[in-house]
Amino acid sequence: MGEEHSNGSNGSHRPLIPEIKFTKLFINGEFVDSVKERTFETIDPRNGEVIAKIAEGDKEDVDLAVRAAREAFDHGPWPRMSGYERGRIMSKLADLLDENVEDIAALEALDAGKLFAVLKEGDIPSSASMIRYYAGAADKIHGEVLKMSRGLHGITLREPVGVVGHIIPWNFPTIMFFIKVAPALAAGCTMVVKPAEQTPLTALYYANLAKQAGVPDGVINVVTGFGPTAGAAISRHMDIDMVSFTGSTEVGRLIMEAAAKSNLKRVSLELGGKSPLIIFDDADIDKAAGLALVGSFYNKGEICVAGSRVYVQEGIYEEFEKKLIEKAKGWTVGDPFDPSSLQGPQVDKKQFERVLSYIEQGIREGGNLLIGGNSLGSKGYYIQPTIFTNVNEDMAIVKEEIFGPVMSLMKFKTVDEAIRRANNTTYGLVAGVVTRDIDIANKVSRSIRAGVVWVNCYFAFENDAPFGGYKMSGNGKDSGMDGLHKYLETKSVVTPIYDSPWL
Ligand code: NAD
Repeated sequence: MGEEHSNGSNGSHRPLIPEIKFTKLFINGEFVDSVKERTFETIDPRNGEVIAKIAEGDKEDVDLAVRAAREAFDHGPWPRMSGYERGRIMSKLADLLDENVEDIAALEALDAGKLFAVLKEGDIPSSASMIRYYAGAADKIHGEVLKMSRGLHGITLREPVGVVGHIIPWNFPTIMFFIKVAPALAAGCTMVVKPAEQTPLTALYYANLAKQAGVPDGVINVVTGFGPTAGAAISRHMDIDMVSFTGSTEVGRLIMEAAAKSNLKRVSLELGGKSPLIIFDDADIDKAAGLALVGSFYNKGEICVAGSRVYVQEGIYEEFEKKLIEKAKGWTVGDPFDPSSLQGPQVDKKQFERVLSYIEQGIREGGNLLIGGNSLGSKGYYIQPTIFTNVNEDMAIVKEEIFGPVMSLMKFKTVDEAIRRANNTTYGLVAGVVTRDIDIANKVSRSIRAGVVWVNCYFAFENDAPFGGYKMSGNGKDSGMDGLHKYLETKSVVTPIYDSPWL
């Protein structure tokens, strides 16, 4: 561990800058330089300074990683091992996450500007719990006995899909890594993971933990690098059987095109969103305002399921707005290692500038800034929590995913109007509904075209609940048993019961 600093009021110390142990590609169980020996810089978003130089993988590195994964799939022990044994190794990996939680939280806070405390209490333990969920499922994968006619006996086998390419984003580097890697491991797949270029550090750390846990060489390979090079090489690779992608809708489209033009590999896409949170007149105003705030500003708004379109029914609108402003003033933006911070810096300069340009566009298009609207401080990528009123679904800030701490607050009259406006989007990732009226809750949750509807809660993720979008928010599910089944193929095996008429 490197530099340390005081942990605020109680004066205790904890690590600020963790030692960066892993900066190279992880292929076939070894950390290696990229073939071209190129590197790229990963940046601390608190100040724009370089944290470390990371190996920059490209097509030839992806080829090597795929070759290792293919060998491990075709001839290695992982797909042939009992599900129980795979689960046992995965459980060990989950334990290693718990044992190293401080180190991991510090790495990810540094790389992504995410809150250290939230990583330590939330992202990392919940990823360990997700690994355990799928570890427990690994020995429960089985097919069916078929009811056949014509004297035939039939069964289905569930087999691992093969070599999987996982391409993941920077906003939840740990959760996104394990929401894909854990079920694919349980299924018996081997894989090549490409973390986002903004946040490569924890993926490499996990490669090492997986090796320690006993995951055989070649099963998990990590190729750090950029999207148009390393990412594109994965999506068009002829020897990858499936790509599981989380990221923007634009890149999702490119990946589907690449799959179509190469080997028609299976494609699972978790894409963007612009999700509505609908608050009805009977809501507890104080609690609903708190929910709206968290829904829009959690993880600095860098979250695909941000509830950034907040619709409030007219009967409580004025009071709700006052309460929201009052609460937003207490939303502290600051260093992600400071326990009093509720919001850290945006992940990088590009994202910081993108969010500020959306805010400018919102003002230009006639939006009224209720609070915020500016950057904060003289260094780093901090932005004030920002709330717009006087906006509608025709404006860019309401239509497009901003991926920053920007909320659009709107008023509605009737249930039908709320449903119509909530659905007035090309996206369909999630929605939130706040009401005590069971009829309204039922009607709205069934009428919204989105993959998840949270009623009287928000961000209520559970390992057991499938997660994934409708419409242009993607296809396929992560999490839950659906998240495991997508890494499996179904094979039918049929044989005559008595004498075969074919032989
Ligand atoms: P992005 O699409 O730019 O990048 C995601 C990943 O794709 C990165 O690893 C990147 O290197 C790679 N990539 C980029 N271009 C590529 C290409 N041509 N071929 C192959 N790979 C390529 O997205 P981002 O900016 O990293 O993340 C933000 C987006 O991710 C938002 O739109 C957000 O909504 C979405 N997201 C969705 C979910 C979900 O589960 N639905 C979760 C988190 C983030």
